[in-house]
Amino acid sequence: MSFQEIQNLFPSQDGSPERREEILSLISKLLSNIDDMKDVNRSVLGTGSERDHNFYKHIIDAEAIPQQGKGLEAVISTLSDLAQSHPYQTKNYLTNVIPLASIPGILGSLTTSLLNANGIWDIYSPGAAEAEVRAIAAMSKVVGYNPEISWGYTTWGGQGAVFTGLRLAIAKQFPKAKEEGIPNNLYCFASEGAHYSLLKSCEATGIGSNHLVVVKTKKDHSMDTDDLLKKMREVVEKGGIPVYVVATTGTTDSFGIDNVKLVKMVTQYISKTYNLKPIHVHADSALGGFYAMFNHYDFVTNPLEFEPEVLNALHTIRERLQHISLADSVCFDFHKLGQCPYATSLFLLKNGKDFSLVDLDESDTPYMGNRGYGSYHTSYTLECSRAASSIAIVASLEAFGMEGYQRLLANYVRINLAFRKKIMERLPYVAITNNLNPGPVSTFRFYPNKAEWDTELNGKATSAHVERNNVWNNQIFELLGAHREEVFFGDTKKVCKVNVADSADMLPIYSCKFFSVSPYTQKEHVDFFIAYLEEKVQSLYEENQSFSKAVV
Ligand SMILES: *Cc1c(COP(=O)(O)O)cnc(C)c1O
Repeated sequence: MSFQEIQNLFPSQDGSPERREEILSLISKLLSNIDDMKDVNRSVLGTGSERDHNFYKHIIDAEAIPQQGKGLEAVISTLSDLAQSHPYQTKNYLTNVIPLASIPGILGSLTTSLLNANGIWDIYSPGAAEAEVRAIAAMSKVVGYNPEISWGYTTWGGQGAVFTGLRLAIAKQFPKAKEEGIPNNLYCFASEGAHYSLLKSCEATGIGSNHLVVVKTKKDHSMDTDDLLKKMREVVEKGGIPVYVVATTGTTDSFGIDNVKLVKMVTQYISKTYNLKPIHVHADSALGGFYAMFNHYDFVTNPLEFEPEVLNALHTIRERLQHISLADSVCFDFHKLGQCPYATSLFLLKNGKDFSLVDLDESDTPYMGNRGYGSYHTSYTLECSRAASSIAIVASLEAFGMEGYQRLLANYVRINLAFRKKIMERLPYVAITNNLNPGPVSTFRFYPNKAEWDTELNGKATSAHVERNNVWNNQIFELLGAHREEVFFGDTKKVCKVNVADSADMLPIYSCKFFSVSPYTQKEHVDFFIAYLEEKVQSLYEENQSFSKAVV
């Protein structure tokens, strides 16, 4: 490859129209290859390829850097191959909150790439700094934080946000921990329905995952704050120090929303009673926080003319999210309901000054920042260089606007209401296991005979019975999973835990998941999904005579 050819692997330095056309034609080729793989009746691109257990081994054996670069046409062909059999968010994509990246989100990411914008310092990327400040200000207003006081940054996922919250929680109580390390009696709290991010964070900070106290949940999958109070007391009375409580506002599986106001009251009561420093409360709103966009919706005049059921459901969500601003920090995963490409998570801190507790000293950052030029240097982030993902966020907020997001989020709720209603009418052997939680997701559980969710939920079923039902659901997970190219349902092996009649141990509840996250899924498609489930389950009865008696 000549040096000229190497230069041709880069965008121009002079704005040459020919180079631009070359780039556009490569992108056009890639888009058209992907478009050719699309089929609205399938939830994958192109032809599915089941990967046998040697698939990755073959790659490892064969892969090496080519001696000669192969050029851009070859690259487009390789990239198109990588798209082959990739899940794709057609109307039949219902598995989890992995969105179709929207055009503004993609354009934002592309801009980040074209500029190779690094969010660390405004001298390196003024655009990144400006976009980040815009994203922080806009979303602070959504949450109800004072944008003059709050601060934030984009980070590596909702998990990164939970981690950052913990880092701050420790620093707030132990400002010297940065230099001296942490005491060995710190404790964190989150509900049974919380994401495992906190478990990882307890491991990574050295608090130890045994010091993560799991709080019970209520029937709506939200944290039982009486249990929180009891467990915080126990910890303190045994000499432990509570530093951090994660209130999940929108659990990943079942959309349970913890009551942030009660959680905050419990932590304040504990600090006051035991004379402790304030305990940091992080609202893990990575998923559900987007519904705070309805916090200022006028439910009386209903300007977007939502039908009564949808309006009611949104109102219930609003009631549960209204005190989110009491949390010390929150997060928005724009790569979830914000419809952006990965990774676009925004961490917000109510009292932005607290970042100084985890900041580096000037002398620790000799390469940048703290100069006469530049005024935005994020030396308090755990990352050093940061992709300026705020550019995609700002692009999306601008393109959708508040109303665009509200309509989209409301539509997810609408589809779920329709799905729950119809499946209950049509399949007597199904129960909705999160029916107290309106939202974008429904968890539904199959029974070999008729639904017995009430018995299970109230702790009246035996462990053998709950386990038998779990086995039945697991068979359905496998069957639906094997056909995921047609309709891609999700599933979970712990939507919640229940008491059982014959043992003190609680048992996890398996459920299928219907997560509506594609803009193409509409209420009219619900009948098809239910007929599809019915057909699949019938085939399982036929294979599985021992389960078949009562229903068919
Ligand atoms: C998805 C999710 C996370 C993890 O977020 P990532 O962006 O995958 O790191 C954490 N908490 C909740 C509630 C989530 O839904």
